[in-house]
Amino acid sequence: MSRFADYNINKITPYVPGEQPRVQKYIKLNTNENPYPPSPKAIAAAVSETNKYNLYPDPECRELTEKLAEEFSVGIENIFVGNGSDEVLAFIFQGFCEGGVAFPDITYGFYKVYSEIYNRTAEIIPLKDDLSIDYNDYLNVDKTVVIANPNAPTGMVLEIEDIEKILQCNKNNLVVIDEAYVDFGSMSSVRLIKEYDNLVVVGTFSKSRSLAGARIGYAVSNKYVIDDLNKIKFSFNPYSLNRATLAAASASISDREYFEECISKIISTREKFKLKLKEMGYLQTDSKANFVFVKHPYLSGEDVFEKLKDSGILVRHFKKERISDYLRITIGSEEDMEVVIKELSKLVDDRGNL
Ligand SMILES: *Cc1c(COP(=O)(O)O)cnc(C)c1O
Repeated sequence: MSRFADYNINKITPYVPGEQPRVQKYIKLNTNENPYPPSPKAIAAAVSETNKYNLYPDPECRELTEKLAEEFSVGIENIFVGNGSDEVLAFIFQGFCEGGVAFPDITYGFYKVYSEIYNRTAEIIPLKDDLSIDYNDYLNVDKTVVIANPNAPTGMVLEIEDIEKILQCNKNNLVVIDEAYVDFGSMSSVRLIKEYDNLVVVGTFSKSRSLAGARIGYAVSNKYVIDDLNKIKFSFNPYSLNRATLAAASASISDREYFEECISKIISTREKFKLKLKEMGYLQTDSKANFVFVKHPYLSGEDVFEKLKDSGILVRHFKKERISDYLRITIGSEEDMEVVIKELSKLVDDRGNL
């Protein structure tokens, strides 16, 4: 650190993204990217925008906002778009969390980082022993509640009725539901925004829409929260989404057929993969996301991580209490997962031969 850095910058521990190897020699299953390319229509739309790069993009992101509003059956005043959902979440931590934030001990790592950089008191609530969220723990926190649903890295789902109970008991604070993985088979809370003015649903195009590299995130909430978010954005960087990105995002929403095809392939690969893991004796959470969270009763998570890496498969391992024997494995293509199954079964066999 330099001698010029503020105290607050000095004390934060930044988020550590999954490794992005420079040489593509790995089957890359460590950052929950989509194995399929973006919709060809999204690619074409992005490319055709580049000859307008001499002009600023639309700071109001009007076309994309309209498309998202239609998609969620809400008004355009209920939609905010940002440069990845990370930016949207950062704005929420910056703008609304004076009274502190509550989130699970095992969840998306950025929640802790944002509470540090924006100086928010964090109440970190342990997941239950089975790694699920107990909604009862959030009923009387009197803080902004942030829940990824499905949660990461467990993939486990909190039912809408339980989210509703949290909303009812926490009327003076926002309840933020991060739905990065909702398209892979769980129910969105967006339907609740008309009834609860303290709900913000955050989403991203990075996982289900194959656009991680383009950086598109959004929030759905009541008009007043959206106005506040726009106030922050227009006081920071009104042009945070570039032209190609905006065009790709809009075209992606229009290409529903491609989206549904990719999602159903990933879900079907996931379910097959889960079954195989079970047959091989691996234990896992019930994931409804585009990844599984898995451990073997007799193998160390770190060992399995290293062995998979040696055989050209990159997955995510967290050196964190309670979950250090687990691996988070992104669902790749059908062929990728067959290779993973082969390697994982070898590890079990090896043990048998000891
Ligand atoms: C991937 C992820 C995000 C970040 O998405 P971006 O839109 O790429 O910034 C947010 N929340 C969770 C839970 C995620 O897994």
